Amino acid sequence: ILMIGIVHYRVNYFDRVKFVNEKELIILSETDPLTKIYNRAKFDSELIKWIKLKERYHNPISIILMDFDYFKEVNDHFGHLTGDKVLVDTARLVEKLIRETDIFARWGGEEFILLLPETDRTNAIKLAERIREVICTYDYDLWSSKITCSFGVTEIFDNDSIYSVFDRVDKLLYSAKEKGRNLVIGQESA
Ligand code: GH3
Ligand code: MG
Ligand code: MG
Repeated sequence: ILMIGIVHYRVNYFDRVKFVNEKELIILSETDPLTKIYNRAKFDSELIKWIKLKERYHNPISIILMDFDYFKEVNDHFGHLTGDKVLVDTARLVEKLIRETDIFARWGGEEFILLLPETDRTNAIKLAERIREVICTYDYDLWSSKITCSFGVTEIFDNDSIYSVFDRVDKLLYSAKEKGRNLVIGQESA
């Protein structure tokens, strides 16, 4: 009985180690190494899932795409490492303003994206405004330089694909840049 007990324990031990390793691998594959928020691959798969849920249950879901303004200048003036720190600090700031159920990811170099379940366009625009304001008033410790971001905000429609959502929100972000930056531009209506 003792022998069986020991063998059983060892077998379970290796199963447990395998389980933990696999879990760590999954987390690694979904995480952006710099900011520790989700990466684009994870965001894409979440968006696909939420679009399907939307088709079935018609609950409001919104997307916020944000891009740092003149980030190249931040790197040029303060160096790439400081630029990296700005990205990390901003990720922590945004995390404090969102719900645990919101999906927050690094979409590209200096672009972050948010998926907000159970949130309509009006409330998503309010949240983006709040994030914008917190970032542009935060002291990043860059002498007198300020960091600002521009935002595109849209609700997901019933017949949307990930491509149509990205295309729309990207155009809204582009229009925020064109209109002068440090701005939130939301989709007018469906
Ligand atoms: P705009 O207001 O039009 O967005 O101006 P911008 O300078 O932010 O735009 P652009 O797309 O020309 O430059 C993005 C910059 O972001 C260039 C790139 O070096 C920097 N960047 C992208 N990823 C990272 C990163 O991981 N770390 C740092 N430090 N910089 C990054
Ligand atoms: Mg930029
Ligand atoms: Mg960019």
